[in-house]
Amino acid sequence: MKREKKQIETEMIHGGPERNYEGSLAAPIFQTSTFSFSSAAEGERRFAGEEEGYIYTRLGNPTVRALEDRIAVLEGGEKGLAFASGMAAVSAVLIALTKTGDHILCSNGLYGCTFGLLTMMEEKYDITHSFSHMRTEEEVREQITDRTTCVFIETPINPTMRVIDLEIVAKAAKEYGVPVVVDNTFCTPYLQRPLEKGCDIVIHSATKYISGHGDVIAGLVVGDEEFMNRLRMSEQKDIGGVLSPFDAWLLLRGLKTLHVRMDRHSSNAQVIADKLASHPRVERVYYPGVREIDSPAGRQMRNGGGVVAFELSGGKREAQNFIDRLSFIRIAVSLGDAETLIQHPASMTHAVVPAHKREEMGITDSLIRLSVGLEAADDIWHDIYQALSV
Ligand code: PLP
Repeated sequence: MKREKKQIETEMIHGGPERNYEGSLAAPIFQTSTFSFSSAAEGERRFAGEEEGYIYTRLGNPTVRALEDRIAVLEGGEKGLAFASGMAAVSAVLIALTKTGDHILCSNGLYGCTFGLLTMMEEKYDITHSFSHMRTEEEVREQITDRTTCVFIETPINPTMRVIDLEIVAKAAKEYGVPVVVDNTFCTPYLQRPLEKGCDIVIHSATKYISGHGDVIAGLVVGDEEFMNRLRMSEQKDIGGVLSPFDAWLLLRGLKTLHVRMDRHSSNAQVIADKLASHPRVERVYYPGVREIDSPAGRQMRNGGGVVAFELSGGKREAQNFIDRLSFIRIAVSLGDAETLIQHPASMTHAVVPAHKREEMGITDSLIRLSVGLEAADDIWHDIYQALSV
């Protein structure tokens, strides 16, 4: 049964077709690898696509489907698909959009493993890529060639927190008929909805805020029906990086509180960003300027999100010493969890990016990435303050 569209906070909890599982409030976990057919003819009809119904969990599963339907509603897209990790989602989409000889235009900064994947695709399959700041439509147009089949961006960029104007990129890419893929991991659909800004495909590392509890590795993709059906029947099915039913269930559970958590992550992060900015040992703070209404962040983000990046005076050693002096803030990669997490991108998440490229992307040795959690903002600041005070 189809529901009338509601506000996003309500859709986090109810979005997608109504299903009745014996009245169960939570979606059941269909922990099965396969589905039996009532006859050989039924099996044949399902394989031929003549009859709706499940076949085998790599090809679809009711718990996973409930999650896929919900994320599609939340992003305002036609269809969603769930993957075993954010990277399984990124790789499936990039493989779907390219073939040997093609070119991918990227934001000047990407998660380290996405960078690693692009490097591998270039070396093995001659699928090239280039980077652009994308500050103006002209900067986007300049690098689109007749071989460009995909524009791939993160905004805010991990870990520099630079914001890219989605409307500028979508408008320029549209002139050439090139699809724009947005990694929306840092924002989630609660803070930013790229499809509404004219972009074509949205990707999430659902490992982060969508899970929210640091206990799942997962990826999600949303796009139009035609592309998503192709992705489902080819890259997802045949490469096989699908999400398990239990992990889909954990994500459905995480989604129910996503909006509440994102509000708190954002307000905590804003407090920490402001305090860091006025500390004498902190040279620069990078946090989306949503308070400037007439800026890309102000136009496209509801709030700044939970990640703050900053540079301390000194270099790598000072950054590492500061991190080591923290008390309850945990040293860990990942983000979006209840716990505040800190990491040093140049030696951790972005260590695979060559030093000269890191520099071009703004990932200096003194850059620190903080994923501000859900603890009391005062406690988070006290921990940072005492570690800065030596
Ligand atoms: N995209 C971004 C922006 C990320 O930060 C990450 C992981 O940190 C990924 C993709 C990859 O996600 P996963 O670790 O779930 O494979």
